[in-house]
Order: sequence, then structure tokens, then C-alpha cells
Amino acid sequence: MAACIRDPCGLLCVFVTYLSVAYADYVILRHILLLSYAGSVWCPFHAVVFNFIVFMLLACHTRAVFSDPGMVPLPDTAIDFSDLRSGTQRKNDRGNEDWTVCNRCETYRPPRAHHCRVCHRCVRRMDHHCPWINNCVGEMNQKYFIQFLFYTGLSSLYALGLVLTTWLWPLEKGTTAEAEDGDRVHHSHIQIIHCIILLVEAILFGLFVTVVFYDQIVSIITDETPIEQLRNRLLKEAHREVSHTRKPKLALLREVFGRGYVICWFFPCNTPPSSGGPAYSYLPNYDV
Ligand SMILES: [Zn+2]
Ligand SMILES: [Zn+2]
Repeated sequence: MAACIRDPCGLLCVFVTYLSVAYADYVILRHILLLSYAGSVWCPFHAVVFNFIVFMLLACHTRAVFSDPGMVPLPDTAIDFSDLRSGTQRKNDRGNEDWTVCNRCETYRPPRAHHCRVCHRCVRRMDHHCPWINNCVGEMNQKYFIQFLFYTGLSSLYALGLVLTTWLWPLEKGTTAEAEDGDRVHHSHIQIIHCIILLVEAILFGLFVTVVFYDQIVSIITDETPIEQLRNRLLKEAHREVSHTRKPKLALLREVFGRGYVICWFFPCNTPPSSGGPAYSYLPNYDV
């Protein structure tokens, strides 16, 4: 597990994430299910399903926050760079990329690794630094990040569905005494306010994660991180040759989500080690 990054913006975003999730769960349970679904079989059903999605969201988020995104070790690990200094030009399967030097880390870094200004380290296949997980999204935690997006989108959709069905098709209440009417009006006003806040929260987070999720999947199946997309666009503008991956889309997805069953893609479990997956070796070993 990597140490938590002390970035005030990142820590605030993580806190806001927990706060938003806790609030959504509170409104769903207290102001929707216990108020509008009381006595119905749908009350425990929705409570269990929604809390399962929330549990998965938090589990994936925790793994994304505390996992090492694939930081390139600092030079005190005593790696012998002599073969790189000798000038032998080795090329990997992407054709024209080679190990580079990071002046800030003062170390050699593998192809596709980039320096993060927030983490102050180079990260393998760095996608971007995400304040919502207070960590970089890189080769080794991208799976957890995408799962977090997926469950956030799913919980937003579920919350949206519950609020709208409660409003559009309210369940018939049992017998209500006249004396309770005033109390019920008061409660229904509070319920409406909470539901509106939840509705706004679900729409905002839902749209945001949908856009990021789409970008992540496109970046995987095109085998281009946002940094590489930018670099390749600049190369194209300068009429220079841009190398494109020849790997099939499923193979690229498996590199991120693991080679196990597709059902495992939905759980924040460790990717089983495989010979064809991402190479975690810190040595420049292109011949493998
Ligand atoms: Zn660096
Ligand atoms: Zn970072």
C-alpha cells in the first residue's frame, strides 16, 4: 500500500466523496425507504441492493486511494543502468519508445511513465492525477479507479430511479389518523428538500463519472493515455509519424482488468499474475 499523499485539495475531495456517499445513503434509507416504502417488501430489497452498490463503491475507492499506481522506484534501489548508457538502441513493441530520464526524480523511467507534479514521482503508464482518489491513476490502480466510476454511476442511477418512482408512483399508505396530518405535511416538506438535493447530487456525479468512464474506456481500447493523446496530436500537427497499437481491444482491456473471468472485472480483487499482462519489472527488459 502506498502512503497517502498530503495534498490538501486531494484530501478535501476524498472527504467530500465520503460525505456525499453518506448523505445519499441517509436520504435513501431515512427519507425515501422508511417513509415511502414502509411496510412494503421493496423497503428491505432496495435497502440491501443500494447498500451493496455503496459498499462496492467504497471498496473500489479505498483500493484506488491506497494502491500504488505504479511509481517508478527512486535511484537508491541501485539499478544498474550501464546497458542504457552504452547506447544500445532497444525498442519495445510500440516501435519507437525507449526509457527516458526524469530530471526531477533523477532516475531512468520505463516507456509510458510520466512525472506527476502532485505525487512528486514518476508513475508507470500514468493516466492523470485524480484529486477524487488523492492519487495518480496509473498502470496498477486504473482498474480500481474505473470500478469506482462504475459503482458511482450505478448508485447515482439507482438513487435517481428511487427518487423519481417515489414521486411519480407513490405507494398507498395505510390508515392515517386526522391528527397526524400536520406532522405528515411537515415530514413530506423535509423529504422533498432532501430528495431535491439528492437528485442534484445524483445528476451531477452521474454525468461527471459517465464522461470520465467513457474517456477511460476509450483511452484503454485505443492504448493511448491522455498524455499520449496530446503528444500524438502534436506529432500529427508537426507531420511526424505516430505509432499505433496493433493489439486487439479485448487484450488491451484484459491488461487493465485482468485475465480472469469477466465477472472479476467488477470486483476490486487483485489481478492474477500472467505472463502477457503489464510487466511490473523495474528493469528495462524488452526482450521478454
Ligand atoms: Zn519523475
Ligand atoms: Zn499523482
